[in-house]
Amino acid sequence: MDAKPIFSQATRKGPRKTLDSARLKSHQRLHAVAVSSLSLLGCLAALTLVCLGRPPGAVEVGLFLGGFLFTGFGVNIGLHRHFTHRSFQAVTPVRVALAILGSMAAQGPVVFWVALHRLHHEFSDQPGDIHSPHFHGEGWWGSVRGLWHAHVGWTFDHAVPNAAYYAGDLLRDRAIAPISRTYFFWVFLGLLIAAVLGGVLTGTWMGALTGFLWGGPVRIFCWHNMIWSITSCAHFFGERPFDADDRSTNNFWFAIPTLGESWHNNHHAFPNAAMAGLEWWQIDPSGWVIRALEKLGLVWDVKIPTQAMRRAKARAI
Ligand SMILES: [Zn+2]
Ligand SMILES: [Zn+2]
Repeated sequence: MDAKPIFSQATRKGPRKTLDSARLKSHQRLHAVAVSSLSLLGCLAALTLVCLGRPPGAVEVGLFLGGFLFTGFGVNIGLHRHFTHRSFQAVTPVRVALAILGSMAAQGPVVFWVALHRLHHEFSDQPGDIHSPHFHGEGWWGSVRGLWHAHVGWTFDHAVPNAAYYAGDLLRDRAIAPISRTYFFWVFLGLLIAAVLGGVLTGTWMGALTGFLWGGPVRIFCWHNMIWSITSCAHFFGERPFDADDRSTNNFWFAIPTLGESWHNNHHAFPNAAMAGLEWWQIDPSGWVIRALEKLGLVWDVKIPTQAMRRAKARAI
């Protein structure tokens, strides 16, 4: 396998791709530990309440599903397909809304998320890929270690991408850069909305608490694991209909909970495509929302690979 350079240092050719900053690394690690442990604690608290006879009612289920869908679409449609890959263009209010909703998923500021994901595509399943499951030894134990690393282990210790190199366009984006800089405010606002709606809709303080738990930490924990299932399972299990120059895979079984991101081999083969599902049966709710926004005239220049492009990349079976 070709080994691409991992850490390009400052050279006459241009800026570094990753930063050797102990301060940035410790901030990144602290964020990962805080989000993982607090969302897990929130899940345990919600489960404890269930055991004590307070199962989630319609309000809690609504806040969980609503928050999951809105922030999930914020990540998939906004952070991923629009800001990272420019797979469509959108009016500014839609871009702002997508950046805010994506930030509420608590996966890092927009600029950081985009820089990290562009780095992943550059080195996908090669040395330098921050979350490939394929470099952790042979046999079943190597697979287990690789899947653990690709799912969540990588979040605690990975190269910090240089945003100036990978996401300079967003650093200069006057609508999006301020949202990225105020990331923690949007995470907090997402939690506050869940608590306030829970309290108002039930008229009780307990409703505020359970609304917060199901619409906040439980929602964040579940969506994190959906995105991590892409970084782990969708580079390990499943089908590879296209030659994408890596080991990305398509998986039908988690297309719905990932809101369409599990067609990951399609995505790596055509990273600038707005639709991850390319066949009629490939469920892609995020792509459907992009199509609906296009019909409303709010997005345009929606990029879809042609049949000729698909045939050119189809793998011989
Ligand atoms: Zn990937
Ligand atoms: Zn991507």
